[in-house]
Amino acid sequence: MPVSDPLIISEPQQLTADLVHLSTIIDSTIPGWTRQALTEADVVGRHWVRARMAEAGLETRIDGAGNVIGVLRGTAPGASSIMTGSHTDTVEGGGRYDGNVGVAAALEVVRTLRANGIELRHDLIVVDFFSEEPNRFGISCVGSRAMTGQISTEDMDRVDSEGVRFGDELSRVGVVPEALLSARFDTNRVKAFVELHIEQGPHLEEQGSDIGLVTSITGIKRFRVAFQGQPDHAGTTPMNRRRDAGCAAAGSVLAIERIASANVDGRGTTGLITFSPDAVNIVTESSELWGEFRSPDLDWLHAAGNKFHAAVHSEGASRSVDVELEWLPSEQPAVMDNRFIDISSREADRLGLTQSRLYSGAEHDAAILAKKIPTAMIFVPSKDGRSHCPDEFTAEKDIHSGANVLLNTIITLDRELDFD
Ligand SMILES: [Zn+2]
Repeated sequence: MPVSDPLIISEPQQLTADLVHLSTIIDSTIPGWTRQALTEADVVGRHWVRARMAEAGLETRIDGAGNVIGVLRGTAPGASSIMTGSHTDTVEGGGRYDGNVGVAAALEVVRTLRANGIELRHDLIVVDFFSEEPNRFGISCVGSRAMTGQISTEDMDRVDSEGVRFGDELSRVGVVPEALLSARFDTNRVKAFVELHIEQGPHLEEQGSDIGLVTSITGIKRFRVAFQGQPDHAGTTPMNRRRDAGCAAAGSVLAIERIASANVDGRGTTGLITFSPDAVNIVTESSELWGEFRSPDLDWLHAAGNKFHAAVHSEGASRSVDVELEWLPSEQPAVMDNRFIDISSREADRLGLTQSRLYSGAEHDAAILAKKIPTAMIFVPSKDGRSHCPDEFTAEKDIHSGANVLLNTIITLDRELDFD
């Protein structure tokens, strides 16, 4: 097989222009660049992406799960495919890069292939996945879960804090729950998924690397703990007679930090805590805490869970506070395909780019797809490691480098992967 020079994206300025245009389709009442799923801005944004896909020469459709899909036919249409893409929804008050980079780069990959007259053997499927960021119903990666059959009827019945059903909210933005549940792809026909994304952390910048090759995506273990004590007068109740649910919760918050800090890849976060009654002069009767552990190491996640179980019960027992620990739906760590990592590594070398291997501490559509399809992820640096905030920034040259690695990884995968 002849090995030619790596291909370079034809019009990087178009990629940049697409990112700039996406940054104008936002909810301007919120600081930053907000285009949350289930909002008007997201509907407009995804239709714009579809139009750009059509202009790039793709056959486009929006599937039952709201995923915007464009297909560049291979030389044997209908045979197996290679998939790439990311998401254009954002968190509230988010930045301009996040998943947008992977979608805009995928479009540029298609334009470059066509401009250079390169035909792939496989179909190339470009996807802007619906609702990747966690929404107010506590579910993330909605489109990729639907595509791979990892979402259920029960998920449609989830309610937000106002009692609104997820299924009803989906219908409001034109996604029919029944259609979403049957939007499954034949994943056996998809031979590879490759996602380009910003790192969202500080490692590439610290190591001076142009490109990150993701080895695995973190697992997440989420929990809710309810503490039940007794309300008493804050002035007259001696300290040794209290059943203070607030103190048991506070001790548990520190236990989360202690457990996670003991391992270099461990992460532990308390995201939400409530005290009741919420009054300065009453000993807290009940408290609720929501949090999570993350790690790419499943054994560590199990061990952290066991330690936390022991810690919350000890915090409760020492104060005669009842404890109820509930484990919430969690994600197992997702392992990226070693062969694909090696291919991207080779292509980055050929392009003269420096590279690091690292795991992703953030969740991605790639983590969901990796459960069904051999998957790889390519990262580009995030300035100061900042993300999910208006200051999120990735330099244009880094985005173009990432797009070039994506392009050449796809070309090599097309050559080297089994084809049927
Ligand atoms: Zn993202």
